[in-house]
Amino acid sequence: METKREFLKKLGLITVGSLVGGTMSPAFASKTKGNLFAPSKKIGLQIYSVMRELNEDVPKGLKRIADIGYKTIELAGYGNRKMGEYEVTEYRKLAEDAGLKITGSHVNPPVRQYSKDNLEQIATFWKETVEDHVKLGVTTLVQPSMPNIQTIDDAKFVAEVFNKNGEITKEAGIKWGYHNHNMEFNRVTENADEPAPSNPWVRQGEPIYDLLLNHTDPKLVFFEMDVYWAVMGQADPVEYFHNHAGRFPVLHIKDRAVLGESGMMNFKKIFEVAYENGLDEYYVELEGIRGMTQFEGVKRCFDYLANAPFVK
Ligand code: MG
Repeated sequence: METKREFLKKLGLITVGSLVGGTMSPAFASKTKGNLFAPSKKIGLQIYSVMRELNEDVPKGLKRIADIGYKTIELAGYGNRKMGEYEVTEYRKLAEDAGLKITGSHVNPPVRQYSKDNLEQIATFWKETVEDHVKLGVTTLVQPSMPNIQTIDDAKFVAEVFNKNGEITKEAGIKWGYHNHNMEFNRVTENADEPAPSNPWVRQGEPIYDLLLNHTDPKLVFFEMDVYWAVMGQADPVEYFHNHAGRFPVLHIKDRAVLGESGMMNFKKIFEVAYENGLDEYYVELEGIRGMTQFEGVKRCFDYLANAPFVK
């Protein structure tokens, strides 16, 4: 005859087994969404990852993002003071109705070559952009593409513009940030005619990324490191988190395709050291998938992070 303890143990196993098998009650399933093992994790999505499929039906697509378990989204696609074909207030309502909070947005200014002649144009752009993003309810505005930088002085000039952008958004309570690809880890020298050697072992000149970090005001500009593009630029995200603590409150969590599948990204170490140095928010970004839909891809990325013990 089995003891009460054995009986309870068996019952416990049965409960866990049925949850893993996906037979939990619909009410429980909808409350926890896909985030069954870690309902407290605030996993965000950069919507560029699903842009093509999302734009087929935005209200339905936003619901699908929330149903996977994502809680926050970072926008891409703001332009001409609208979000695609939607007014910004309409878009915010659609996101909220879906159960998503818009926390960030990627926006590029209309010029790539910064000069004294277009500083006014750049400032006006950010002022208008901030007005619209207050309506969207974001806490961060991020520039995702690099302006033209050929020399150390170019980088310093761009850093000054970034500081100004940060001042503009700060007045509205929004933090201004910069998102990298791999070219920010190229080195530049004083003279564009004598570029730094492309061979990374010849450490001549300074990485553009370091110049931007060192010449921007931490109170005005944060850095949303895209960890995959940093690695592709032959840089170590972990080293940057150690050396510039507090500058990386937001990350792009990206891999060659689905998170964790390439084996080239040490996400455990990345998250651990990023948390120690002020990580507050992160967004999944997905590109390069084959043989699956964008929504299937971001579901797999979500599951990877939801089940990863090193992700809070
Ligand atoms: Mg990115």
